Amino acid sequence: MTRTIQRPVLAANWKMNLGPTQATEFLREFLPTHPASAERTVILFPPAISLAAVREALRGRPDIQLGVQNVHTEEKGAFTGEISAAMAAEAGAAFVLVGHSERRHLFGETDAQTAQKCARVESAGLTPALCVGETIEQRERDETEAVVLHQLRAGVSAMSDEAVRGMIVAYEPVWAIGTGRTATPEDASAVHRVIRAALVELAGDGALEIPILYGGSANAGNAAALLAADQVDGLLVGGASMSARTWATICGS
Ligand code: PEP
Repeated sequence: MTRTIQRPVLAANWKMNLGPTQATEFLREFLPTHPASAERTVILFPPAISLAAVREALRGRPDIQLGVQNVHTEEKGAFTGEISAAMAAEAGAAFVLVGHSERRHLFGETDAQTAQKCARVESAGLTPALCVGETIEQRERDETEAVVLHQLRAGVSAMSDEAVRGMIVAYEPVWAIGTGRTATPEDASAVHRVIRAALVELAGDGALEIPILYGGSANAGNAAALLAADQVDGLLVGGASMSARTWATICGS
């Protein structure tokens, strides 16, 4: 069953930061500064090893959702160090980042793997947040649209239309991630419009409800302008989400 995700979506990707103790401290500081709101969706993507601690710290705060940063393509087996989508679900995750640029570029994740992962995530009853984005070289060669659409179509290729309508997409230009260089709201809107049109083509008008997030050096200073941009339904934030105070400001933008 597809659930509608309230927009805007503010998603924090902590990457390989904030172990269980630091994650708990973060929430002790963040929660009192961020009152529950039905008008937005806040999702935390801690390292998988911090999931239990974060879940515990979030008791009484069902307004804040949990996700994992990656899952394996297979359901179970001899894959040392990996976790499956079903395990993530059992541990309390509702969302899974798939195809983050660090997975694609540092770990060699292919489009075929993102497709398998999205399908596994769907089977486990979780929601994929599929990340797409071009490198600086691709942008300079005017390939942004082609790259993003290829990654998008490949990523959803093994999902049902219904699950596509219930997913999240994050546009994250690789040149903006962790670099301090942000896409302008206009640049982000232009790519988001292309993504939206492709999603509607793939899954019908229900795809108008799919949150399309922007990610890449979003921070407390630029969050409001990015969120106000056409077709920008939320933010996926790395560096600036790791300070409780900054994250509270972004979530209140
Ligand atoms: C990310 O890792 O998804 C991200 C957007 O990172 P940053 O905000 O640090 O650029």
